[in-house]
Amino acid sequence: MAVAPVGAVEELTGALRGDVIGPDDPRYDDARKIHNAMIDKRPAAVARCVDAADVMSAVGEARKLGLEIAARGAGHSGAGMGTVDGGLVIDLSPQRWVQVDPATRTVRAGGGAQLGDVDHATHPFGLAVPLGVLSTTGIGGLVTGGGIGYLARKHGLSIDNLRSVDIVLADGSFVRANADENADLFWAVRGGGGNFGIVTTFEFDAHPVSTVIGGPTLWHLDRAEEVLAFFEQTMASNDTPEDLNGFFAFVTVPPGPPFPEELHLQKMCAVIWCWTGAPQEADAVFAPVRDLHPALDGIQAMPFPALQGAFDPLFPPGLQLYWRGDFIESLSDDAIKAHAALGPTLPTMLSTVHIYPINGAAGRVAPDATAWSYRGARYSEVIVGADPEPANADLVRSWCIDYFDRTHEYAASGGGGYLNFNSALEEDRVRASYGANYDRLAEIKRKYDPDNVFHVNHNIRPA
Ligand SMILES: Cc1cc2nc3c(=O)[nH]c(=O)nc-3n(C[C@H](O)[C@H](O)[C@H](O)COP(=O)(O)OP(=O)(O)OC[C@H]3O[C@@H](n4cnc5c(N)ncnc54)[C@H](O)[C@@H]3O)c2cc1C
Repeated sequence: MAVAPVGAVEELTGALRGDVIGPDDPRYDDARKIHNAMIDKRPAAVARCVDAADVMSAVGEARKLGLEIAARGAGHSGAGMGTVDGGLVIDLSPQRWVQVDPATRTVRAGGGAQLGDVDHATHPFGLAVPLGVLSTTGIGGLVTGGGIGYLARKHGLSIDNLRSVDIVLADGSFVRANADENADLFWAVRGGGGNFGIVTTFEFDAHPVSTVIGGPTLWHLDRAEEVLAFFEQTMASNDTPEDLNGFFAFVTVPPGPPFPEELHLQKMCAVIWCWTGAPQEADAVFAPVRDLHPALDGIQAMPFPALQGAFDPLFPPGLQLYWRGDFIESLSDDAIKAHAALGPTLPTMLSTVHIYPINGAAGRVAPDATAWSYRGARYSEVIVGADPEPANADLVRSWCIDYFDRTHEYAASGGGGYLNFNSALEEDRVRASYGANYDRLAEIKRKYDPDNVFHVNHNIRPA
């Protein structure tokens, strides 16, 4: 069990306005939990920081006390980066505020906000910020890592819609970073994860998105090659409007409504769609999908936040989770065959494979315009081993690694993957995931965090 240096919890408590929860506190076991139950760590304390001042104090105190730091947004990282054995968790969960300025379509959000907090605040104004596809995910890790979701083809990644951040640096100081102020830091934060500091405020551009037409279409697994080929053709075509997004998935159909009983617990392939264009054009846009005669057609009009939250019940906290993923340039015939052969191997009901498009607006950004370098890839894939049963941890982990090993040869050149879609990685793969941007990131790391204080992440070592 982690033991804080004598008096550490008291000292932190005196320095912060938010609660500091040490191992003797009855709330400790809840406070130390993160989303992924495969990661079970015992920090010396969890500091629930209520504002930027608390974050500054927490960083300063941790350094004085010699404690490692793990920053935590919503604790969703598959790699378990939101906690650390024996160190200080700087927990931003009290900072879930969101402000919308509809006149300038500007959204400001606290570093601990979740996707659903942002959607909740923007939807009444008919606006949305491009984020991910599950409403309980934290914007802290998602946005600093890149941010892939239903609006990526139309409006880019989350980082492409970031205007500015307020950030606490490794020396405990507070700065703003944007195109005009600390521009090198702003470049690095857009994809560099938690390496450069703790963001207390994100400022985004929002877009007019309100009711969308989307939802799942499902096919039996023996159609997987055909569906993957159709998906590739659709996403590769310049004729496909960027208002059409959709991710391919291998899934097991949940045993309950709205799914018809005859499909319950069947392994199937799916595309989960989102159309943000004119509603009257949707029938024509989805006609080729319907020509493929899905076994289930769940496409319907819905408020954007409803689509964002549609899969929340499938991924509650407390699952055993293991993730890997590649960037993919295109789905070749051989890649399609390999994926189709592996679709039937899903080891548990919640294990899944998703292939998200990242072309269109996300793909038009220059590879060196932000830290996120894989702008030429058409897709970002994630292989998720998931199960509530701790006894199945090895099963889901080994399946995930096996699926990855058998498909990695079809990955984009350079061999990198979206770091937010990967459990802990070796340094080589982190480097590969930044490609030509790595050396510049390492230089910026040396400038802003020369002692590598922020290293509980997919770490970029100071040059
Ligand atoms: C069920 C599920 C669905 C997901 N869906 C998507 C998706 O659709 N699209 C997508 O792009 N990703 C998705 N992800 C991946 C997600 O982007 C990462 O897991 C991300 O790290 C989650 O952010 P968090 O703040 O909740 O993570 P945490 O575990 O709290 O933190 C993860 C890392 O981010 C850093 N960090 C957190 N907050 C801040 C901050 N305010 N400032 C600086 N650094 C910070 C931490 O230091 C840590 O290194 C999903 C994850 C899960 C578990």
